[in-house]
Amino acid sequence: MPEYRPQPTQHLQPSGPWPPPHRRSTRGKSRRIRNWLVLLFLLMFVASMLAVRTDELGRILPFVQKDAPPVTGLHPVVLAKSKELVEESAKIGIGILITDDFRSHADQDTLFEQGRTAKGPVVTHARGGESYHNYGLAIDFALKTKKGQVIWDMEYDGNRNGEPDWLEVVNIAKGLGFSWGGDWKGFKDYPHLQMDFDYSISELQRGYRP
Ligand SMILES: [Zn+2]
Repeated sequence: MPEYRPQPTQHLQPSGPWPPPHRRSTRGKSRRIRNWLVLLFLLMFVASMLAVRTDELGRILPFVQKDAPPVTGLHPVVLAKSKELVEESAKIGIGILITDDFRSHADQDTLFEQGRTAKGPVVTHARGGESYHNYGLAIDFALKTKKGQVIWDMEYDGNRNGEPDWLEVVNIAKGLGFSWGGDWKGFKDYPHLQMDFDYSISELQRGYRP
């Protein structure tokens, strides 16, 4: 039976005294100790922050990816609030129709082609994964007249109170916590209402969910 002989771990041993002689001055010693203590304190602080807030930290770091189940429908809060929107609008004599809610990435890609490689007007600037619809956080609405016609007329005043119905619906929606695509700078999406819960598209794409 061969005798076990541990190999000398030469590569781990310092080749000389540490710290090297030229750095060992008494004056710098206390300063070095202080620096190490400050560093140690900072490390402990960062570590404790990490332990408590790993999730929040990951959200803001653009390279952190999280495993998340695919979204397949409206967020429960958005669903509840869109039902409230329909009810509240009905109370002041405005009929609305939710024309679009959750959209899969594939649906979004198809919609993106509209007005580009496919017929029709451009209705979105978002590809699959770039719209809040893809995460169940947005809805689109249209007005429904008393005759049951679905219209996108922003001047229409069906309840005859002197205010455009469209903007009345938008105001109710804002009161319920939605933000409106008509307020966007640049491309305006007037039928669009969303709740982002302070999540950016980048965060949603990386698997963070409200
Ligand atoms: Zn929309």
